[in-house]
Amino acid sequence: MTTRAKTQRRSCLSLPSGREIEVSVRHSRRARRIVLQVVQANGTVELVLPRRVSVSEGMSFVRSKVRWIQARLDQVPEGVPFADGARLPVVGRTLTVRHYPLLPPGTRREGRDLVVGGRAEDLPRAVMQWLRGVAQAEIAARVETMAARLGKNFERVSVRDPVTRWGSCSAKGSISFSWRLVLAPVHALDYVVAHEVAHLAEMNHGRRFWAHVDRLCNGSDTGREWLRLHGATLHRFGRGQV
Ligand SMILES: [Zn+2]
Repeated sequence: MTTRAKTQRRSCLSLPSGREIEVSVRHSRRARRIVLQVVQANGTVELVLPRRVSVSEGMSFVRSKVRWIQARLDQVPEGVPFADGARLPVVGRTLTVRHYPLLPPGTRREGRDLVVGGRAEDLPRAVMQWLRGVAQAEIAARVETMAARLGKNFERVSVRDPVTRWGSCSAKGSISFSWRLVLAPVHALDYVVAHEVAHLAEMNHGRRFWAHVDRLCNGSDTGREWLRLHGATLHRFGRGQV
């Protein structure tokens, strides 16, 4: 993990397409060279500079890379805003968001529909809360089953929204997951849960650890591969909200 310096600023950049974007710029004591990154999860552009490099030098480096930046941004999957008609793959089933403004506020599943009442401006938050609730329940149930199979106790399960990781397990046995896994294929969800539960037995990625993962989850390789190839697409949900 990198420690985030306090001094972070934003600079504007024009792309060849004419689009204006913001680049987040920060200095890092540990950086040995200029690092330019387009975060595929959310399409943000980050520039990390060694202390000896000024912001204006850094930005001229960025301007020499605009074509590369444009190409990377073009690969960022388009957002799927939470709105009436949005289709969400929830634990392997595609649900369609249906907004009924005259119904009282609340979200519930009816067959293949996700029925949301209340004001339109509250809908994105309501859908997100509902998804997080489903994620918490689905993941906690899986953790319980797998931890029992492994004969290990865990402290608690929580869901969050990290940008770069799908799960983590503390030495004390607190396990946290990205709620977005609920939008992934079930085998990818199962793989991440198996991975974190296996850390209750082995706090490393050694041979015994992977043997536990394989035992807890059939076809863990395909789940792992799916996340490697398509994991960033899970961040498109709820993006592009107006
Ligand atoms: Zn791990």
